[in-house]
Amino acid sequence: MAENRAEKILQTLRKNFTPPSWVTSDRDPFKTLIITIISQNTADRNTERAFENLSKNFPITPEALANAEKTEIEECLKTAGLYKNKAKVIKEVSRMILEKFGGSLKPILTMPFEEARKVLMQLPGVGPKTADVVLLFSANQPTIPVDTHVKRVSKRLALAPVNGDYEDIRKALQSLYNPEDYLDVHIMLILLGRKYCRARKPLCQTCPVNTFCPARKN
Ligand code: SF4
Repeated sequence: MAENRAEKILQTLRKNFTPPSWVTSDRDPFKTLIITIISQNTADRNTERAFENLSKNFPITPEALANAEKTEIEECLKTAGLYKNKAKVIKEVSRMILEKFGGSLKPILTMPFEEARKVLMQLPGVGPKTADVVLLFSANQPTIPVDTHVKRVSKRLALAPVNGDYEDIRKALQSLYNPEDYLDVHIMLILLGRKYCRARKPLCQTCPVNTFCPARKN
């Protein structure tokens, strides 16, 4: 049964990976939003560096970033790809949160899921993945964000349709797992993708879920 297989994959991954401390330590929604904007098309290490730089120079609040000079934000984000565009988006999204929502994302996050997602996606720089990350990590809302690792790994493991788009993958995964496991599913598939199920030359021989995987290469 598909659910059973999916459950076994999750159980095996839980035995093999420990979620990083940030998963439970800092769920401030605005910080989550800013990190996720920085992470777009950027490697994890470079995202971390850029966010650290930004945090050293500014309080990570809508007010501080709305009032910061764009060039100063750019300077902090230089390790991230497309940093000029991201600096512009961060300043603009901060201004909108300040002006339209009184400087807090909390009123949005307490809306029903679909409504909150729609409102978040009207903010500059916020697509489905960024909205889902904020909703999952900062509001415990029932969604599974689909980043590049989740997309690749869930398709290889046949947990999502091979030709599926973002919504197809999200819904397929959500149909296989209980909402209380969504955060773990998201994290575990990312960790598997980083360590074993890499885009090029996946390490199938040592992959902990290779017995469940139709895409396994010998
Ligand atoms: S067996 Fe290979 S393709 Fe399948 S999940 Fe593991 S690393 Fe990825």
